[in-house]
Amino acid sequence: MRIPLLDLGSQLIPLRQEIIDAVTKVIDSTTYIQGPEVIGLESEVADYCNTTSAIGVSSGTDALLVALMALKIGPGDRVLTTSYSFFATMGVILRCGAKPVFADIDPVSYNIDPVAMAAVLENDTEKSIKAIIPVHLYGQCADMTAIMALAKQYDIPVIEDAAQAIGAEYPSGSGNWLRSGSMGIAGCFSFFPSKNLGGIGDGGMVVSNDSTFGELVRMLRNHGAEPKYYHAEIGGNFRLDPIQATVLRIKLKHLEDWHAARRENAITYNALFAETSLIEEQKLQLPVAVYKEQAELSGKSRNYHIYNQYILAVENRDGLIKWLSSRDIGCEIYYPLCLHEQECLARLISKPVLPHAEKAARSTLALPVYPELTLDMQRYVVDQIVAFYQS
Ligand SMILES: *Cc1c(COP(=O)(O)O)cnc(C)c1O
Repeated sequence: MRIPLLDLGSQLIPLRQEIIDAVTKVIDSTTYIQGPEVIGLESEVADYCNTTSAIGVSSGTDALLVALMALKIGPGDRVLTTSYSFFATMGVILRCGAKPVFADIDPVSYNIDPVAMAAVLENDTEKSIKAIIPVHLYGQCADMTAIMALAKQYDIPVIEDAAQAIGAEYPSGSGNWLRSGSMGIAGCFSFFPSKNLGGIGDGGMVVSNDSTFGELVRMLRNHGAEPKYYHAEIGGNFRLDPIQATVLRIKLKHLEDWHAARRENAITYNALFAETSLIEEQKLQLPVAVYKEQAELSGKSRNYHIYNQYILAVENRDGLIKWLSSRDIGCEIYYPLCLHEQECLARLISKPVLPHAEKAARSTLALPVYPELTLDMQRYVVDQIVAFYQS
């Protein structure tokens, strides 16, 4: 049985004709920049995320970059973030001329640890930290209550890197569930094809509940022009393509069902692995997410995880990858190096001590969790992992 890490083909089949018709309509309209499809998607994503503004942009990376530009982050500034993320999280900081400063992760959720953040902020005697970028890694929100409390205490804006987490939810103190991206000054999404809401190319979105900030981002994504050819600000060409927007509007209608299917697959994996002795023998550690349903029951849990990735920490990772690959089972390391270990950073900052992030980078592995995965496929994946550790 061949099981890819992600199967976009099976997602496409039921939507194919609708997508072709919608793209054809954009082609025939001859409106190829901005236009009604982009505006329509922006309004639907704002509704979906419970924000007042949503601005379509060219990628998740550009969403982060334009948000930092709107905050006027530049040389001499530092931005507090996690070292265990995709490169874009740090790349945008460096492209603004600023430098990253890292806090270690919580080894259970893999998200930035507010306790470690507090220590970094306390040491920032020169007050050079001008923004905080928590990442909602793998589809699970970072600990936003604690992060927003620190941000308030130090009066530093928060940009949520929610590239992997559109639709993930976090409980506010008052018992309401807040959508990822709606808690900081800006939330940044990616529509890269492998994200839960993926286009047929690159795309992204910035959401905000601060309409002044939202309008500034809207201006910056189009070279800072307002009106056309008058530039009070320096922005860039960060516009979202209407062909992507029209496809994303079709897919957005299915997003909740896809999240539900991914969450069910994660529950199934957890149950299948629990039937084995692998956890007891410390061969692997399951991803820890607390489900909304259980959270409501126990009243103390945190997150509505949307499982962009299902991540195990495993013993003998290299051996397991070889074993799975030879059996046609897709898997991937996200990410083999921490950001602070990247060569391009070495000449810019001295190496921080981040043992939990480094341990995660050395031990974690993503398994297929896409919505169309069947129970038989999941059984096969788990059986093959059991066989590996018995061999
Ligand atoms: C995918 C991703 C990005 C960048 O998104 P692109 O659309 O690929 O530019 C940024 N941060 C994280 C955490 C991501 O996973």
